[in-house]
Amino acid sequence: MKTSIATVSLSGDLQQRLAAIANAGFDGVEIFEQDFIAHDGGAKEVGKMVRDKGLEILLFQPFRDFEGLPEPYRSRAFSRAERKFDLMEELGTKNLLVCSSVHPAALGGIDRMADDFAELGERAAKRGLRVGFEALAWGKHVSDHRDAWEVVRRADHPNIGLILDSFHTLARKIDPASIRAIPGDKIFFVQLADAPAIDMDLLYWSRHFRNMPGEGDLPVTSFMQAVMATGYQGPVSLEIFNDLFRTGPTETITADGYRSLIATLDDLRQREPSLTVDLPAMAPRSKLKGIDFIEFAAQDDQAEAFATLLASMGFERRLLHRNKALEVWQQGDVRLLINAEINSHAGDAYAQAGLCVCDMGLAVEDAAATLQRARMLGSKPFAQPLSPGELEIPAIRGLGASVLHFLDDASGLTRVWDLEFAATSTPATGTPATTPTGLHSIDHIAHTMSYAQMLSWTLFYTALFDMEKSALVDVIDPDGLVRSQALETPQPGLRVTLNGAETHATLAGRFLTSSLGSSVQHIALATEDIFQTAKALAENSFAALPMPQNYYHDLAARFDLRADFCQGLQAHNILYDEDDNGPFFQLYSAPLANGFFFEIVQRQGGHRGYGAANAPFRIAAQKRFLRGLTKSVAQPLADRG
Ligand code: MG
Ligand code: MG
Repeated sequence: MKTSIATVSLSGDLQQRLAAIANAGFDGVEIFEQDFIAHDGGAKEVGKMVRDKGLEILLFQPFRDFEGLPEPYRSRAFSRAERKFDLMEELGTKNLLVCSSVHPAALGGIDRMADDFAELGERAAKRGLRVGFEALAWGKHVSDHRDAWEVVRRADHPNIGLILDSFHTLARKIDPASIRAIPGDKIFFVQLADAPAIDMDLLYWSRHFRNMPGEGDLPVTSFMQAVMATGYQGPVSLEIFNDLFRTGPTETITADGYRSLIATLDDLRQREPSLTVDLPAMAPRSKLKGIDFIEFAAQDDQAEAFATLLASMGFERRLLHRNKALEVWQQGDVRLLINAEINSHAGDAYAQAGLCVCDMGLAVEDAAATLQRARMLGSKPFAQPLSPGELEIPAIRGLGASVLHFLDDASGLTRVWDLEFAATSTPATGTPATTPTGLHSIDHIAHTMSYAQMLSWTLFYTALFDMEKSALVDVIDPDGLVRSQALETPQPGLRVTLNGAETHATLAGRFLTSSLGSSVQHIALATEDIFQTAKALAENSFAALPMPQNYYHDLAARFDLRADFCQGLQAHNILYDEDDNGPFFQLYSAPLANGFFFEIVQRQGGHRGYGAANAPFRIAAQKRFLRGLTKSVAQPLADRG
């Protein structure tokens, strides 16, 4: 089964796009005519360029406004087609896409259109070319693949077939099961695209909002399942018109496309094992059991300050690595690492971004299988030189500058803490003795990225892991909008929020500017009793984010809370929210200068949210706090001057 992507889906010049497509692992491309015209070079040169990259031109598209025309338009359409056939011969491709006409003069009539295609088939056959007919969702007379198929069936020519495009079928809510009645050998080509569920004009929706299968809300897998049921074994190609992709980084978008296509084909196989999906075997979506560790890159003063923060949160330094400047801080099941190594991934991350999360260890059922699936989906493995006695833990490069390690019990990888580390009872230098605060596990981690990268991350997590996405939520930062997408495992395991910043003025945007691709902006830790935790934190001199009195007045009015309960919240700077399941409590650390912070949460009664209603007030408080930091640094200089 050949995989392909249309040049129109990507940014960059043709050379860059082809390089990225080959690099990502695709077998071929659709050459979109406009991209060819914009290129400074002839058809033969483009054909050679494609083949030199090890790719094949699987389709030339689109040829518009062909069928059902009266004279003189009809004759002109045929001569236009002959010129395109010339071009295809020079490019070295066999397949042309004709999309259903939107020409004002087009007359319609299934038989008239079928006659036109029969004649076009004759002309194509003389040159050994094939023509596929695609129903555009907004076509004048043909806007449904069932009508396009009837035209093709009546044209009854071996060189005329049908082209199916998931967007055109699914956007019009046509049942994909209707594809099952079409003979597979008459389907010449299949294009896949997803799209978010937005109610808008079909043409505008298609040209600007298509996205990769799995990134949107259309049932693309069911569509492809119906296609495969016909016995179709031809190419599967991505044709994605999206404004963000056409301005985004070519390599990332292409890699996303490959990941989405392979995941979709694998889903088909999992859903219906009797289908012949010509794809190497791959492990199923990995089952996440939780976060084994989160590693911070930190050196010198920043490492000491961070250790003090961890100590004030009740964490204890428990283990030291035998060979490296690497410490394990622990409380409950939460394991936070401080890595001060210089010549290492952590060292590079620190040099680039300062204190940051440089690595995460995910507890999975099967680490080797997770790595295998990740590689099949196009992720690059990650490895560092090992010293004697160190375990080889499967790892990949995530998006941005991140690294993910996979640990399981079955292959003994979780023994790493005994094998590579030695216990310590000496407190870290400079950190006062503190008391535990009842933080027992990681509730969620929050990644921050540009809005354009949100789809990449969503796809990354949902294609590799058994995770589901919840609805997108808009979070109001006083200086702009942040969109938030939550991803969760079906069983307790991992919760992730992806926050897409649209402007650099937002708190998320500011973090993004300083973090250079290290994207974990906050980590939320869970407690069973936030008031007890808050008291213990206060004893440890933990610096909580101060919340203003107005917030608590509003809270009392919104939720009908008892006055003494509200006073308790305010005394500890605890934020409150509730849904149908139960209440949700939040408490924030003061943000570090780069915008990173910890959150402490208590969920009751199975509360599902993340405190979106509180976010605007929390963000305003964080910005106020950070402005205070800037002032206190700037003040002495001003005094001197
Ligand atoms: Mg199409
Ligand atoms: Mg949060």
